[in-house]
Amino acid sequence: MTVKIGVIADDFTGATDIAGFMSQQGWRVVLLTGQPQAEMPWNDDADAIVISLKSRSLDPEEAVARSLACYRWLTEQARALQIYFKYCSTFDSTPRGNIGPVSDALMAHSGVPMIVHCPALPQNGRTVVHGHLFVNGTLLNQSGMENHPLNPMKDARIAALLAPQTTGKTGLIDLATIHLGQGAIADRLHALRSAGVNHVIVDALSEEDLNTLAQALYCLPLLAGGSGLGGALAALRPSAYAPGDDRVPMPPARTVIFSGSCSLMTNRQVNAWKAQGPSHRVDMARCISGDEDYIDTLVAWAVAEPTTPLIYATTSAGELARIQSQYGESVASAAVEALFSRLAVRLLASGFNTFIVAGGETSGTVVEALQVKKLSVGPAIAPGVPWVYDRERQLSLALKSGNFGDEAFFFRAQELRA
Ligand code: ADP
Repeated sequence: MTVKIGVIADDFTGATDIAGFMSQQGWRVVLLTGQPQAEMPWNDDADAIVISLKSRSLDPEEAVARSLACYRWLTEQARALQIYFKYCSTFDSTPRGNIGPVSDALMAHSGVPMIVHCPALPQNGRTVVHGHLFVNGTLLNQSGMENHPLNPMKDARIAALLAPQTTGKTGLIDLATIHLGQGAIADRLHALRSAGVNHVIVDALSEEDLNTLAQALYCLPLLAGGSGLGGALAALRPSAYAPGDDRVPMPPARTVIFSGSCSLMTNRQVNAWKAQGPSHRVDMARCISGDEDYIDTLVAWAVAEPTTPLIYATTSAGELARIQSQYGESVASAAVEALFSRLAVRLLASGFNTFIVAGGETSGTVVEALQVKKLSVGPAIAPGVPWVYDRERQLSLALKSGNFGDEAFFFRAQELRA
């Protein structure tokens, strides 16, 4: 059976994001966590396989090695026709990478000289005009993303963000060209290739632009970007499979919410939940010290709560800056992630079967801790955030990237958990 697209996602919420968009188009999508063993055979039915890595904040060498291992498996074992490198629609990266290094490595490995970058996700307000990234009409570097704890985005020009990450040449297909249609896009791609361009950034302001791009690009062996183009690519071709339910039957939900994102939207979502439901704010001093008693205290509190408990490290930009200067940015992040990781294991053992997690890195940590390997995709809670179900255990997960969803996200997620 043919896998139309093999996706390599640089974080877990990014993987569920694109899997959700493809699944909404009727595609059968299988989500795998972490890089598959090189020799692992593929016998499942799927229009797309999405592999989630936690490679966004790794050293570039490690991110490249893992991404290439996925590339090899997807092309050799799963025989995917097209490879899509999925990153965040806010182009989350640092001057070291990893978007540039991974894209360059995928090009070198596949023998393709050019990769198209389409981060736009108009449904979630992420648009690209003249190569500048906007979030709800505001330049990326004024959208709150300039305060991100791991990858503060200090520029909105995609070419400028890529420049320190690659020695490759960048070029643009602008909105005017896209509005001229597939033929004009193909001509422009040809011209950019002749000019030695490796990284082609594409503008997109609307779903229609994404659909035009999908028609122009669906034959290319290698693409990169956000989930918007992924959904548009799926919309172009019907699923090869009849709809089926591959879920393990679930008992009633016992839910916990973990929030490790400090995005503006997550702050609002946490505040909305706190106003009505039980919540516990992470004590950073105890979290940093790795205090085992603290984990016991949190577990006992969560278990005793009759309704869904929220445990959050989410904080304002000002407070985050203070914490980071006191403890060091990576020490603080690692401590928060370690806390959620340990809590996930303990709460699973205590009977929790449903985890709602806010934050891309935070979600990656939780999924790794829970040792989830293979997931199927359920209903969308918000654009880019579907419920996902462990294919082997009674375990449901909602993994939310920082700014996704609206204020009622934590409530809506629980209403939709089937
Ligand atoms: P997002 O999806 O918003 O980018 P992530 O989970 O990817 O969220 O990243 C947020 C990072 O910030 C994580 O590494 C998390 O551990 C860290 N973090 C969260 N809360 C705090 C805090 N109070 N102090 C320091 N770091 C924090």
